Order: sequence, then C-alpha cells, then structure tokens
Amino acid sequence: QKPVPSDIVISRSCVPKPIDRLAREVGLLSDEVELYGKTKAKVQLSIVKRLQAQPDGKYVVVTGITPTPLGEGKSTTTIGLVQALGAHMNLNVFACVRQPSQGPTFGIKGGAAGGGYSQVIPMEEFNLHLTGDIHAITAANNLVAAAIDARMFHESTQSDKALYNRLVPLSGGQRKFSPIQINRLRISVFITRFARLDIDPSSVTWQRVLDTNDRFLRKITIGQSPTEKGYTREAQFDITVASEIMAVLALTSSLEDMRQRMAKMVVATSRSGQPITTEDLGVSGALTVLMKDAIKPNLMQTLEGTPVFVHAGPFANIAHGNSSILADKIALKLVGPEGFVVTEAGFGADIGMEKFFNIKCRYSGLRPHVVVLVATVRALKMHGGGPTVTAGMPLPKEYVEENLELLEKGCSNMRKQIENAQHFGVPVVVAVNGFKTDTEAELDLVCSMAKAAGAYDAVRCSHWAEGGAGAVALGQAVQRASGAPSNFKFLYDLELPIADKIRIIAQKIYGADDIELLPEAQHKVELYTKQGFGNLPICMAKTHLSLSHEADKKGVPTGFVLPIRDIRASVGAGFLFPLVGTMPTIPGLPTRPCFYDIDLDPETEQVNGLF
Ligand code: ADP
Repeated sequence: QKPVPSDIVISRSCVPKPIDRLAREVGLLSDEVELYGKTKAKVQLSIVKRLQAQPDGKYVVVTGITPTPLGEGKSTTTIGLVQALGAHMNLNVFACVRQPSQGPTFGIKGGAAGGGYSQVIPMEEFNLHLTGDIHAITAANNLVAAAIDARMFHESTQSDKALYNRLVPLSGGQRKFSPIQINRLRISVFITRFARLDIDPSSVTWQRVLDTNDRFLRKITIGQSPTEKGYTREAQFDITVASEIMAVLALTSSLEDMRQRMAKMVVATSRSGQPITTEDLGVSGALTVLMKDAIKPNLMQTLEGTPVFVHAGPFANIAHGNSSILADKIALKLVGPEGFVVTEAGFGADIGMEKFFNIKCRYSGLRPHVVVLVATVRALKMHGGGPTVTAGMPLPKEYVEENLELLEKGCSNMRKQIENAQHFGVPVVVAVNGFKTDTEAELDLVCSMAKAAGAYDAVRCSHWAEGGAGAVALGQAVQRASGAPSNFKFLYDLELPIADKIRIIAQKIYGADDIELLPEAQHKVELYTKQGFGNLPICMAKTHLSLSHEADKKGVPTGFVLPIRDIRASVGAGFLFPLVGTMPTIPGLPTRPCFYDIDLDPETEQVNGLF
C-alpha cells in the first residue's frame, strides 16, 4: 500500500472546480447562488419554493458505534460514501455536513473535513471562517447577552415611570401600543410596571460565546467597571457552537420560522417565576437581521467533485449535533427521487442518531431510508477490554496486532448500537472503516458479527486510503438497503411527562435500569412543566465515550442508574437538555495545541500545518 499523505497535502493537490460550475451541475439557477470567492457559495432559500413539487431523494444518516477519543471515521465515511455514489456509481448525490468550530481546529482535534482521500475541499476554507456563519452567531448571541445585563442594570437604576417612558414609545419592550394607548397607559402606575421584566439575576441561563478554546473564560465576573455601579454578576463564556442560536439555525425550516424561534428563546426567569424571552428583551428582530445570511446553506465540494452542503454545527452534547434541516431539504429536492443525500449525526448512535431521529426528523418531517453505522476494529477491541486509547499517544500493541478474541468480545457494543437503530425501524448498513493495521480475519469477523446482529448488510471500506473507489461496496449496500421496507417510528411520544421521556431513552438506548432525578433536575421538571415546556423533545447531554454516563465503562454497561443532575431548556431551538454529569461548554487548550504547526506561506498564500 502506498503511504497516504497528510490531509492538507491531499486537499491542496486537488484543484477544485469553480463553484459556479458545480452549482449549475447540481441544478441551481444563477440567481439562486451567492458566490463567496471561487470555492464557496451560499444558496438562497427561494429554491425551496421553486422545487416544492419535486419528489425527494433517499435520505441516509451516518452514525457510529461508541468511539475511542480519536473518532472512528463518521465524517470520512460520509464523504467517502458520497464520492462512491456520485463519482463512481453516477448517481445524483449530496453530502450535508456540519461546519466545524474553529476552537478545536486550533486546539486538540484539528480539522473535521473528513480525512485521507475522502475530504471536503478546500479544507482550510472549510475549517476556518467559511462564509462567516459562526461569526454571525457569535454576534447575535452576544447581543442577547448584552441586552440582558443592560436591561437588568437600567431597571435597577431607574424609576418605573422613567423606564416606561424610554421603553414603550420606542416599542423596544415586550409590548407594542398605539399612540392613543400609550397616552392612556402612561397615567397608569399599574401598567408602567409592565415595563419591568424584573429578571432574577441568579436565573440567567444565557451565556456569552466565543469560537476559541479559552478556558479562562469558563467562569468570570462581569460589570466590574465603576460605570456599572457595582452591578457585578458571575457569568461564563461558552464556545459559539454551544449557543442556542446555532441549534436554532440547524433546526429552522424557513426565515419566518427562524424569526419565531428567535423570539421564543428563554434567557432567564422573572422574580415571579415567568420565563423571560428574547422577544421580551426586544432583541429578536435584530437577531434575525444578524442571521439573515447564515440561514443560507453553503455549497462546497469533495475531492472527487461531488457537491456538499456545509451548514450549522451545533454542539453534540448540550445540543443535538446535526447539520441543518434546510440543507437536507434543499439537497433532497436537488438530487431527485433516484438520488441520495447523506448526512452525519455527531457522536455515537446512542447520542447523535437518537437525536437525529427524535429531534431533527421530528421537526423536519423527513423520513430516513438507511442508517450507516461506522465501526472500526480499534474501537471494538477497546470495548472488548483493550487498554485505554489516548489522543496524541501511540496505540498499545493490542490495537496494531491481530487479536480476534478482544475484537469478538467488543462486538457487543456494535450489536447494541445496531439494536438502537432498529428501535426506529430503519435498515442498518455497517461500514467497517479499515485501518492499515487491521487484518483480513479481523475485518471479516466484524462483518459477520454485524450481520448476525441483524444488520441489513455489513461491508468493509477503504475510502480513507482510496477515496470513493474504496466505498463502492458500501454505496451498493446503501442503494439496496434504501429499497428495503422502512417502518420509521419515534422512540417516545412528546406528550409524555418529561421524566418518562428521559427514562425511555435511558432504558431503551443506553441500557440503564432506571434514571435518578437529582434535586435540581426535579425542580426543573416542575418549573418547565408549569411554564408549558413539558412537551418538548429531549436532548440528552451525556458522554459519548460510553453507552452509560461513565466514560470508562466500555462495551455494553449494565446494572446502572442514570443520574440526571439538572435540566435546561432551549425553547427557541425546541428541546430540553438533561445534564448527565458535568458538561464542559468551552474546551481548553492543551500544552501543545495544533496552532503551533499552523502558518501561512507569504509567497503562495498557502495555509500550512492544518490536518
Ligand atoms: P468522526 O467523524 O467519527 O469523529 P473522522 O472522520 O473525523 O471521525 O476521523 C477521525 C480521524 O481519523 C481523522 O483524522 C481521519 O482522517 C482519521 N481516519 C478516519 N478513517 C481512517 C482510516 N481508515 N485510516 C486512517 N485514519 C483514518
């Protein structure tokens, strides 16, 4: 086997076709396309209406077994599969993937454009600013944060009347009045009280965000300048992709729908227990303005010239970790009834896929045809009892030498994740992503174990080393599976009480005996039920490194009770997120971050050192 060069070397060795040409090839009209240079374009939402009557293509979601901290190749397989379907099997195809956060690009993980000969190109554009969507989210999110603290400050330092006179005539507040009403209302002390939102500062759940792994912003004190008159408050920064606005972008279905979601976001509670929304702050119109371009999907391409939408990248733990509904919907129309749209759900099947079905598909109304479950020999060996795998460290010998015993034992995790996909009634194709140290016997064993576990099919693939040619067998299996009967169903009914929905996920998907609601979670169940948010879907914030809540429990853990520490609400995005343990919402930088290797060649303007 020839050695595979680094991702950036492969990415740079391929000259992308002009993006306007690709846009024409996939059936976009020139006035539907906004070019951002030669390799990126945004697609206008007017296309949704134009293609309304066109039947949808086949919808495929790529997920994985419980991974090692290194990742098992979901993104790489998503891209390899579309290269196979599009460039080798001559089918209409689209990949719909998440835009990565810049934080990890400069931190530990590096890029997220796939890898080897299965990548989105140019990978430096993909991994860095792209078309500015994440920056727009940072701006919008922080406008809300500024609005909250300014409002609390002004309410604390002004009389009811002064506040009312300033807010209402400008109709920046929560109520809009006619001039006659305003005059009448001005005289009413009772009504002037409405000008007060009376936010309880300890209830503010909205945080400031930044797309940088800056660990020193995890806890801060704001308001320390004397101009803020002592109104200090403990606050925190999250990474931008953890903002609820990112989750809204991913789940919205139109500009009108986004405007409504921007109004519904709950940022705090008033002292009398009422939810305070972005509409109450008067900021939701401005947010929509800031997000008006971000809502348009970004068109890019793979190494083999097949089209890709890169759009939205919500955190996979406190949010649902799936790219946008709008990109999927547009792509499904563009490929037509015989074509394929392949999207990826973040983390393993117990998290990303469960949320893809129960949250994303519930809001989109789209019904998937096939689940592709990515498995690797190394992760299965880890589940079979192999030693700990750590990013940046050499793999222990169990992982680079044949060991069928460990592997067979670890297939229990794959079996459980196949079963998890089957709960939703969708056929599962297992993609065994081959590494150069895997042996024939090992790869065959995984395929036969997958079929015995009820997978529709299981195939070996080598798209990382060979590009689309290495995933043709996978493409054919997916094509066959897409014709198999699919009996899609959700796992739970939205009308069930919050605790019951959480219990169903914990028992059916994670294999827990039960759940335990700790006092804060119990309080939130009562609060959200009272506030009318009880019928939202559930977005579990749990480690992705185990089916249980303890990252070091590999394989298929049993005999555990899932502790729910707290529950939060993303009302605009439309889900409740129970916290299982503590979730870091902004990563830190390691001692030697990826940015050490990154530099620009001033002669060629090439970016070096990304991987
Ligand atoms: P995930 O999406 O599951 O997190 P990625 O597709 O991002 O995983 O892959 C994780 C890393 O592993 C990437 O750096 C990718 O290039 C690399 N990788 C994936 N598949 C292979 C393979 N078959 N051989 C070698 N490296 C691979």
